[in-house]
Amino acid sequence: MLPTFDPRDTEAGSRILEDITSSAGHIQEQVLEEILTKNASTNYLKGFLNGYSDKELFKNKVPLVDYEDIKIYIDRIALDGEPSQILTNDSITELLISSGTSGGKQKWIPKTAEEGERRAFFFCLLATVQNRYLHGLNDGKALFFVLISPDTHTPGGLVLRTTTASEIKNRKDRYPQVIFCEDTNQSLYSQLLCGLVQRDEIASIGTFFASGLLRIIKFFEEHWQEMSSNIRTGQMSDWITDPKCKRAVSLILSKQIPDLADSIDLVCQEKSWEGIIKKIWPRTKYVQAIITGSMAQYIPALEFYTGRLPIVSPAYVSSEACFGINLKPLCSPYDVSYTLIPNMAYYEFIPIGNHQDPNCTNSKDAHLKDHIVDLANVKIGQHYELLVTTCTGLYRYRMGDVLLVTGFHNITPQFKFVQRRNVVLSIDTDKTTEQDLQNAVTIAMHILEPLGFFLLDYSSYADTSSIPGHYVLFWELQLRSNDDFPVLDQVKMEKCCSLVEQSLDLQYKMLRNQSNTIGPLEVRVVKQGSFNVLMDFYVSQGTSLNQYKTPKNIKSEKAIEILDSRVVGKFYSREVPNQDS
Ligand code: AMP
Repeated sequence: MLPTFDPRDTEAGSRILEDITSSAGHIQEQVLEEILTKNASTNYLKGFLNGYSDKELFKNKVPLVDYEDIKIYIDRIALDGEPSQILTNDSITELLISSGTSGGKQKWIPKTAEEGERRAFFFCLLATVQNRYLHGLNDGKALFFVLISPDTHTPGGLVLRTTTASEIKNRKDRYPQVIFCEDTNQSLYSQLLCGLVQRDEIASIGTFFASGLLRIIKFFEEHWQEMSSNIRTGQMSDWITDPKCKRAVSLILSKQIPDLADSIDLVCQEKSWEGIIKKIWPRTKYVQAIITGSMAQYIPALEFYTGRLPIVSPAYVSSEACFGINLKPLCSPYDVSYTLIPNMAYYEFIPIGNHQDPNCTNSKDAHLKDHIVDLANVKIGQHYELLVTTCTGLYRYRMGDVLLVTGFHNITPQFKFVQRRNVVLSIDTDKTTEQDLQNAVTIAMHILEPLGFFLLDYSSYADTSSIPGHYVLFWELQLRSNDDFPVLDQVKMEKCCSLVEQSLDLQYKMLRNQSNTIGPLEVRVVKQGSFNVLMDFYVSQGTSLNQYKTPKNIKSEKAIEILDSRVVGKFYSREVPNQDS
């Protein structure tokens, strides 16, 4: 049973947080027991446990799985309309579309009513933490951007929607009408317009992921003149036809407000958009968006646009379960740790170290199983991949997220979100991970930063169409000033390519160096807005805008074509990397 409390009651919430983090081991045992007792008779678990619900048997017999391993069960429920009891004894009420890997491939994750309650509990705890540490939040309004895509149904009759849509549609009364508009452009335009009209009341601004917030800033850059004109005339643009948007805006924008339009024009016409968020919404105290893991690449861009307002990275959540809360929401975006909430799911941890290959994709590997630890036995300073067992039918499911234990709150571990486990680039025996690539790109950008550039977004693929194959990185660069984009300095760009190579691991350097198995790394600079077009492409394929994460490895030929058709400069490494450094 989950404790209940009013999320506005900060003291009660804090007490519960202290209680559960002081008895995390015990709670975890209870969670596993409940899941097994309830689900031992499902087809899936029966195959391994013969109907028993013994916890040790579970740890010995139930294999570690990736989504691909259980897809066949989910498809039977989703596509063939077989009963949920294949996987879980609770009825599956919806399937959540997860972006999951940053590879852009969708997963369908079961949701049950009980999972809905767990999520509600998690968000109450999160509200407690925010009320406690983010002072002044309630002195104004929160401008939190939410975009919802339309529901679809599986052939088996289940509703298919994103995690955000599920949360919001199940608690309709709590949210403003405007966010229920399913046309992204109309919805975003209207949300921004409402935010502009109430400019002086906004105390915080946010959305789910940092990449989403940048996308919103870009949208604002493209539409501010039109919005300002709407405010000046008191009339919303004709292309906003959605009744929910029209109603919501008309309640807020009911008359001409020329003074406000003038002041918006003044700010937006400034030569640089540095600090634009703070200038447009001067009372904003915090910006909220997940900024850890692969989102860390956006920190410089967000700091630029927000004028270094505190960035709050609130939680570690996914379609599979809600995992952790940042108990120090005002810490530096580089220092965020999440405290695991012990009653959300049963957690296990695969240590990643010398004897473990984080990229081992053989889920049934007994070798991995031998080293797994539970929540009570994780060690500070050790990296782990998270495994979850949930009440929704996921058993020993590999999240693919790599976490570093940074400390404990009471006896509950706290983690830094490091990266996803996946290899993004591979040629021959080289395996470059998302984190390797991010580190290398960050180092290489030191060459361009003094010239006034920051990297708005990047991606990559292994081009094996010629021999030797080589890695290609797509970079979208942005200038800090509003000056015209200069011609890129060939020598400096080539230096960037070499620095990326120099920062990759020894295996890469050996293959590049000695055997010429990998050719010189290439950076293709794409024109402004290219990554937005890429996002639109993935969204058109069914990815949720709120959950979108730029794929760091592009597999789709169409996606590569989209970026390739926007390349403004190609540069190659001219030096072979030094293996000794
Ligand atoms: P989705 O199911 O589409 O919401 O994606 C969930 C995935 O998003 C997780 O498995 C993580 O890889 C990523 N994610 C969620 N929260 C965070 C966070 N706080 N920091 C970094 N990555 C996150």
